[in-house]
Amino acid sequence: YEPPAPAPIRRLQESLINRIAAGEIIHRPASALKELLENSLDAGATSIRVTVKDGGLKYLQIQDNGCGIRKSDLPILAERFTTSKLSTFSDLSRLTTYGFRGEALASISHVAHLSVTTKTRTTTCAYKAHYSDGKLVPAQPGQTEEPKPCAGNDGTSITIENLFFNTPTRLAALRNTSEEYSRILDVMNKYAIHNPSVAFTCKKAGSASPDLSTPSGSSTKHAIKIIYGRTIEKDLLETRVKEDSKKTEESWSADIHFTNANYQAKKMMFLLFINSRLVESQRIKRALENVYTGILPKGASPFIYLSLKIDPRSVDVNVHPTKKEVHFLNEEEITTRICDVVQEKIAEKSHSRVFEYQT
Ligand code: ADP
Ligand code: MG
Repeated sequence: YEPPAPAPIRRLQESLINRIAAGEIIHRPASALKELLENSLDAGATSIRVTVKDGGLKYLQIQDNGCGIRKSDLPILAERFTTSKLSTFSDLSRLTTYGFRGEALASISHVAHLSVTTKTRTTTCAYKAHYSDGKLVPAQPGQTEEPKPCAGNDGTSITIENLFFNTPTRLAALRNTSEEYSRILDVMNKYAIHNPSVAFTCKKAGSASPDLSTPSGSSTKHAIKIIYGRTIEKDLLETRVKEDSKKTEESWSADIHFTNANYQAKKMMFLLFINSRLVESQRIKRALENVYTGILPKGASPFIYLSLKIDPRSVDVNVHPTKKEVHFLNEEEITTRICDVVQEKIAEKSHSRVFEYQT
């Protein structure tokens, strides 16, 4: 056997490196949307409106009424590792914002046409800027790339067009636009439930009626009812578990909304937020599923929304943005306690119902 002659090692082109890196953060329209939603929430928005064409592949726009972006920051807005949220390493453990890596807008600009219209409270007009490969570019060839003054409301509107136009294999894998749209809607629904004080709408471009519409200043329970329907609401229980400890790292609290023994869905709905981040944990999900196997008939599943607040130092926020599966300190203990409380509450309710019937 003769090994082949070694090929020469060459440095990849900068633009190719960036495109590959961007593809690891932005998998599909819904992952771009999640980043943009988090930016709007970080900006203090109380209203977030999303418009979608072709499952977000052709067009994805998100409009918020948050703090806006200063005109002087626009030139570096879409550069990699530029952020207004983190300046020192120790800030990482005290983080109260979703973002901190400054990678989202940069990534999007490498795999799509990105434009931003934004206005802060202190300027009289809005500014519009276009980005490609991390940099400001002219709206039309021959024009200047300088952000252009224009009319606009306070806040920021971000438009992504032709997502993955320059990565044809990725694009080919995402042909099913209705599947992509339902993923977008799913992310929006979950954030709307977790942020009931914020008004959310999501619609397809050209459609008169939105597929999601929640008012601002609402409650978690009301948001669940609007999004998942009345049938869930009448079977919904809620509870708060709080564990205080002298050693601060061990203090935590959980807000849980969960269905009782009467509610039977085909598929389990499990919404998990840890320190307000939408994450996944197969361990917690399975533990809760087990609680219900003793309560629901075979094949029936519950709805559970769990918002867990733990000390930021006991969860590694530095995980890659796409690593949704999280682990944290005292995970087992916390999970067991939550499951016990959920089980107790469901049992309590079914007993009191039996009691009501008897009297
Ligand atoms: P990160 O959120 O990690 O800081 P991003 O690439 O998502 O990185 O955003 C870069 C910066 O752009 C943010 O730090 C923020 O200052 C600004 N920004 C992005 N979106 C918005 C928005 N909707 N409103 C106000 N500022 C925004
Ligand atoms: Mg961000």
